[in-house]
Amino acid sequence: MSFGRLPEEIERDAHACLQCGYCNFVCPIQLIDGRGWESYRVRGKMYHLKKYAHPGLLERLTGDRAKMSKEFVERVYNCTACGYCQIACHVEIKFNDRWEQLKQWLVENGVAPLDRHRALRTRILAKHNPYDEAHERRADWLPKSADRSDNPDVLFFAGCTASYRQQKIAQDAIRVLDAADVEYDVLGTDEWCCGSPLIRTGQTDVVTNEENGLVAHNMREFERRGVGTVVTACAGCFMTLNHNYQLYGGKHGFRLYHMTQFIDMLITDGKLELRKPLPSKVAYHDPCHIGRHFGLYEEPRRVLRSFPESSYLELPRNRQNSQCCGAGGGFKIQFNDRAEDLASLRVKEAAATGADMLVSACPFCVTNLSQGAKRAGIEMKVAELVSLVAEST
Ligand code: SF4
Ligand code: SF4
Repeated sequence: MSFGRLPEEIERDAHACLQCGYCNFVCPIQLIDGRGWESYRVRGKMYHLKKYAHPGLLERLTGDRAKMSKEFVERVYNCTACGYCQIACHVEIKFNDRWEQLKQWLVENGVAPLDRHRALRTRILAKHNPYDEAHERRADWLPKSADRSDNPDVLFFAGCTASYRQQKIAQDAIRVLDAADVEYDVLGTDEWCCGSPLIRTGQTDVVTNEENGLVAHNMREFERRGVGTVVTACAGCFMTLNHNYQLYGGKHGFRLYHMTQFIDMLITDGKLELRKPLPSKVAYHDPCHIGRHFGLYEEPRRVLRSFPESSYLELPRNRQNSQCCGAGGGFKIQFNDRAEDLASLRVKEAAATGADMLVSACPFCVTNLSQGAKRAGIEMKVAELVSLVAEST
């Protein structure tokens, strides 16, 4: 099966690729058993794209051209959107956007997404969340004691995972905002999925539809409330609201913070004091979507250093060189076992430092690392930084 031309930027980047292979050494996919083949690697995928864009004479004569085969599509979706290849690339290919663009093109040509990704589309269209949960129950996580403001300075965007699967994270975020006397509100059932699972899997049309797409809806709700600041504890929502919403909808008129940034500011401004030490020997795992994608490395670490009488452990691979836990990019929903394998490697890395708790700043990481610990058979507590902060106020 043959399609039209690749988007111009992808074609250009496929040609620009030097085939040096530096990206191969950083991609987490090659850490999983049997995934070290060149076809699973970034360099191999770029070579295939170049061959597709411009077949050689022999390939044209024999008709044996590179194809957008089922196997190649599956290889493209073997990606956690960790952003490491973009950092490693010697010709500075903007892979974070390019992989999404490639998946979108594959979807437009009818050979993608993969089967479990299709279900995401159906659920998000019907219920505004990827978990097939009733939309009316979206705000069930919100404690009755939450001190919501009629005139908020801050809007807390919970996101689907903290609304339905990791409710403690959203509840602890609210506890922290209450402890710091922040005037806040939440969108409740006016909040829809940010669109991250669809964008990462190439199903962008649902997100960008100008009438009733997810961007249009959520932006309308933000604007209707006229708040100057939006805060989210989810690294996936942060990346989507920060990067993708501005890519599709233009510059937004509010300040956006990840919860770790916001807590760091509250502590620095003397509005929040941490009173109890860290409960365990804690190691910090950088979530890719706030770390490599936005450089939020020091904010969570400053927060960890603010606990009295406490220190935290640094994982050998940290900050820019952090190893992805495997949860992102739509990878986990399609390849759960492989995602847990990756998480188990990260848990083993933490255990080797002597840590008994792995703390992160993303509900996806918390879910996957918890499952990775079980898979590795290691007693490792996994927590969200905001929960440790809430316990310490
Ligand atoms: S974003 Fe991460 S997982 Fe995806 S190809 Fe790049 S290095 Fe590999
Ligand atoms: S690092 Fe960049 S230039 Fe080198 S093989 Fe990878 S994609 Fe190509």
